[in-house]
Amino acid sequence: MKGFIAPGATLGVMGGGQLGRMFVHAAQQMGYGTVVLDPDPASPAGLVAHHHIQADYLDQQGLTQLAQLSATITTEFENVPAAALRTLAAMRPVAPGAEAVAICQDRAAEKAHFVRCGVACAPHASIESPQQLASVDAALLPGILKTARLGYDGKGQQRVDTRDELAAAWSALNHAPCLLERLLPIAYEVSVIVARSAAGEVVHLPLQQNLHRGGILAVTQVPSPDVTLPVQQRTAEAAEHIAAAMDYVGVLCVEFFVLADGSVVVNEMAPRPHNSGHYSVDACDVSQFDLQVRALTGAPLLAPRLHSEAVMLNLLGELWFRDGERESAPPWHEVLKLPGVHLHLYGKASARRGRKMGHLTVTAANLAQAREQALRAASLLGIDAF
Ligand code: ATP
Ligand code: MG
Repeated sequence: MKGFIAPGATLGVMGGGQLGRMFVHAAQQMGYGTVVLDPDPASPAGLVAHHHIQADYLDQQGLTQLAQLSATITTEFENVPAAALRTLAAMRPVAPGAEAVAICQDRAAEKAHFVRCGVACAPHASIESPQQLASVDAALLPGILKTARLGYDGKGQQRVDTRDELAAAWSALNHAPCLLERLLPIAYEVSVIVARSAAGEVVHLPLQQNLHRGGILAVTQVPSPDVTLPVQQRTAEAAEHIAAAMDYVGVLCVEFFVLADGSVVVNEMAPRPHNSGHYSVDACDVSQFDLQVRALTGAPLLAPRLHSEAVMLNLLGELWFRDGERESAPPWHEVLKLPGVHLHLYGKASARRGRKMGHLTVTAANLAQAREQALRAASLLGIDAF
């Protein structure tokens, strides 16, 4: 098959976090070699890959070594410098491409892409100068001020109710280029993970419903308890269109808000597998990481089938500090007694509040049963009920 990179070849990944680690697991299962570039000697993916190049993302020698070892290269975090992807692309096929990643790295470019695609997003305005700050439309308040670049897990975001609060928030963000979005009346949040091949084939995971706490994903449920068929169809079509319009190759996650009146608004996208898709490893016959391997190697893209219903709980660093200041392991032995529990830990040496240490997927024949066991696990671990 033309362009197919067969098992036995080595796949490269920029970034060594948990997403890279699960990509490496999927690639190794299919018989590929793996190489990770990440400056951290103890990076979760670096610990499990065949090769770990310990270098900065813009280190010329490191990038050359990555290209020499890899038949093709992908990325596992969206803030990988676009210049690094361009350097790599001159030596090896890279997917997703630097242009698509650059759009996802900048909230203003991302919103412009949504508008071009005709998909509704939150009313917003760029705040990059004192003039723009002064002339901001009052209809955008109350709103959320977000840094245009480098935000994740709710970092670089602040809710603002008045012009004074807006000015203070922008100051607190050191006048970095920002986007002000109107605060929307969200009924619930969903995301759609699509995979697209170089030939333009597109498949998607079943839609997942996400609960955020403090700006960080806390719980994902599949199937979505609240979604209606029209919302399901609209979000899947929008996500596929958003990917195709960037000529995207690889796995892309698109996050949506469903508003109180049932309308759908696109929030943001990530040019890689996503935390909300982790359940697919245990609950689907093709996971988001399998799709990443397939899209990258030119293997056929199979539409994933949900064989179990699932609840995913994120395991954040605070669970290691339930007894106060001293770090202690959560009660895994008790949790592992629960039927349908799949424990995933990312191999991070030390816990910190807000740090994603792992996740737990509970699979069952139906969502009610998965929820029941997930609520037991949550109570054992000290995670609030959902
Ligand atoms: P991540 O990369 O982890 O998904 P992020 O830091 O890029 O997060 P967003 O997805 O923009 O942040 O926002 C995080 C959460 O904040 C959203 O999932 C939603 O719960 C809330 N939020 C963001 N924008 C709005 C909005 N315009 N109106 C209401 N709530 C919002
Ligand atoms: Mg988000």
